[in-house]
This record gives sequence, structure tokens and C-alpha cells, in this order.
Amino acid sequence: MSIFENTEVAFKLKSNNELRKAHAMFVAVDKNWLTDFGAWSLPWAIHIPGVKSLIKNTVFAHFCGGETRKESMLTIDKLYSQNVKSILDYSVEGKEDEAEYENCFNEIMAVIDDATGNPKIPFVVFKPTGFGSIKIFTKVGAGETLNEKEQKQWDNIRRRFDEVCKKSYENDVTIMIDAEHSWMQDAADDLAVELMEKYNKKRCIVVNTLQMYRHDRLAYLKEQYAKAEKENYFIGYKVVRGAYMEIERERAAENGYESPIQPDKASTDRDYNAAIEFIFQHRDRISLFAGTHNELSCKLVMDKIESNNLEKDVHNIWFGQLLGMSDNISFLLGSKGYNVAKYVPYGPVKDVMPYLIRRAQENTSVAGQSSRELGLIQKELERRKLEK
Ligand SMILES: Cc1cc2nc3c(=O)[nH]c(=O)nc-3n(C[C@H](O)[C@H](O)[C@H](O)COP(=O)(O)OP(=O)(O)OC[C@H]3O[C@@H](n4cnc5c(N)ncnc54)[C@H](O)[C@@H]3O)c2cc1C
Repeated sequence: MSIFENTEVAFKLKSNNELRKAHAMFVAVDKNWLTDFGAWSLPWAIHIPGVKSLIKNTVFAHFCGGETRKESMLTIDKLYSQNVKSILDYSVEGKEDEAEYENCFNEIMAVIDDATGNPKIPFVVFKPTGFGSIKIFTKVGAGETLNEKEQKQWDNIRRRFDEVCKKSYENDVTIMIDAEHSWMQDAADDLAVELMEKYNKKRCIVVNTLQMYRHDRLAYLKEQYAKAEKENYFIGYKVVRGAYMEIERERAAENGYESPIQPDKASTDRDYNAAIEFIFQHRDRISLFAGTHNELSCKLVMDKIESNNLEKDVHNIWFGQLLGMSDNISFLLGSKGYNVAKYVPYGPVKDVMPYLIRRAQENTSVAGQSSRELGLIQKELERRKLEK
């Protein structure tokens, strides 16, 4: 039996009723047609009376902490009671105007306050496109000339990136930058490098993300390490496999360029493991946040900690999962004393729909995650029945 199959530990915080609700939800999202229908209809159906509260009590309750930071604190306290920390993730996506970007920036500044000196919230996170339009990132990344209006927008993006990192530096909080689509990622990565150079002189404050489903990321990691070593600053990476595979492949095919995505899953796994190996070899300079629901990847990091004779809670090695997914991994790691944190997404129900739809799609039978979750929930319900 895998060490991650202890369902008693995994679902300690869930009542029988909550487990039954989670079971019903995973059975529903497991059906591809239903998830596809939901993805198509929910963005407008959410405005029909009753639909919002239905969503809020089911999918939202499972995957999100609440509509506000304050509402999410209950979840954060519960997780902390099991030695699992939280990363408040303002999950409002797809907004397209300067007022919304400024609102997102203000929200991240407030999250930095919540995280300051707070062991329950060890990281702050933001998405580049929360601070500005994907079009601007794409143009800058491609080296295109910006017109006056676009230049102003880019200056605003740079200011927002810099100010959240500066405040994190001053408050001694670690801040992570999510990775998104490859065609806008170069500009975001270059900004992240600039900020690492500026704020990571004494320790790693700014952490960027590597998507190992891209075939160029292992070389990029090595390149960034060589630069940091030469110029003497710290670097840190959230290492993930990547969430936008289909859209990346489709866009490359449509536009006739080479897909940035690995040819198969085995290649992604190979590079994921190689990145972990490389970071452990250079752990004095590189911090690791392994953002994954893959049990073998988590086991690899656990084994590396042991074979390098490190403490389980060595300060610069973290594991991370998303709220509502792979509790069997998070709670096992927490119970054994490893550093583990869950993203706790929050935001108004209607605005976190793109996030929820992505989670539902990741959990269909095609993507494969739901059967894993369902099996574990079923096992725990059976165990509780026998225990009576
Ligand atoms: C804490 C946390 C933070 C995250 N932050 C980000 C982020 O900033 N940006 C982001 O993009 N994602 C992010 N993700 C999502 C992540 O990239 C994965 O989509 C998700 O975690 C599934 O991968 P896995 O390692 O958990 O598991 P697995 O189930 O082992 O792997 C599934 C992943 O493998 C890859 N894959 C599957 N099939 C193929 C194939 N045929 N060829 C090549 N590759 C394939 C895909 O990336 C797929 O998502 C985050 C995840 C977590 C847990």
C-alpha cells in the first residue's frame, strides 16, 4: 500500500456529510459531458436565481476557501490544526481593464499583510495576468513596439510587480509568481528575473514557476542557476507540470509553430524529476516548492530530503497542493512534519468560475484525477462504516 493511502489521516477534517457531498461532486465532474456542459453554460447561468447558491454550496465549497480573505480564515485555521499551511490565492481571472488590475494588486498587497509574521500563511501568490493584459505581456515578450497607451499599461504592470515584491521583501514574506501560457510567459519571466536580482540578495523572497511540460524548462533552470551563481543572488522555483497543455498544442498547430509542450507524459515526468534532482544538487542557492498531486514526485522529494540528511522541515523545501485535491498527500506530509501548503483560492463566486471550470476539467475521467479522489473517499466512507 502506498504511504499516501491513509484515508483516516487524509480526511480527518471532513465530516461524513462533507465526504458524501465531495463524493457526489466528483461523480458528477467525472462525467465529461456534464463538465463540458457546465464549462459552456455556467458563465451565463450563474446569473439565474438559485444557481449561485447551488455552486457556492457544492463545487465552490469544495475547492475554495470563501468569497473573501476573511471568509477563508476558517479553512486556514482548520488546515493549520493538521500542520498544513495555506497560500491565499485570489482567483479572480479573465478581467480586462486597468481598474480590475489595480483591484487585484490591492488585494495582493492586503494578502501580504495577512501573511506577515503569520506561520499559517508562508507564501503569497499572484498571477501575471491579474496585473495586466495578456496582450501586453505577449507583445513585450515578442519584442514588439508598444504604442503610447500600451506603454502606459506595461509601466503599470512593472510597477505592480515591483511593489508587491518590494513589500514582501520589507515584510520578510516569500512571494510566488504563477506561470501561465507560454506565449506571454517570456515577459513575465524576465520581470521575475529582474526582481529576483533585486530582492533575493540575502534570501529567496521572489519565487517564479517552471512548467516542466515545456521541453525548454530544464535548460532554462540551469541557465538561471548559472546567472544567479555568477551574480550572487538566490533563486526559487515552484516546479509544476503545467495546466494549459491542450490550449498550447492547439495554438501551436493553428499557427504553424513548434509546440512548446513535451511529446508525451513520460518526457514531462522525466524533466520534472530532473529539475528536482538539479535543485537538490544546488539547494544552497535554489529554493524548491514542488507543486504537484503526483505521489511519485512527492515521494522523490521526500527521498531526496532523507538521502541528503536534511530535516523534514528544511526551510527552503516545500510541497504544495490545491485545496480540495490530494488531501491524502497534504495531510500525510503535514502529519510527518514536512513543509506543506495548500493554495486556498478565494473570490466572488461568479469571478472564480474560470478557476472552478479548470479544476472540474482536470477531474474528469479523461484527465484521470477524479477516479483517484473518488477511490480514496469511498475507501474512507467504508472504513468509517466498519469502525462503528
Ligand atoms: C500548488 C500548485 C500550484 C500550481 N501552480 C501552477 C502554475 O502556476 N501554472 C501552471 O501551469 N500550473 C500550475 N499548477 C497545476 C499543475 O501544473 C498541474 O496541472 C497539476 O498539478 C497536475 O499535475 P501533477 O504534477 O499534479 O500530476 P500528474 O497527474 O502526474 O500530471 C498531469 C500533468 O502532466 C502533464 N501531461 C499529461 N499528459 C501529457 C502528455 N501527453 N504530454 C506531456 N505532458 C503531459 C500535464 O502538465 C498534466 O497537467 C499548480 C498545481 C499545484 C498543485
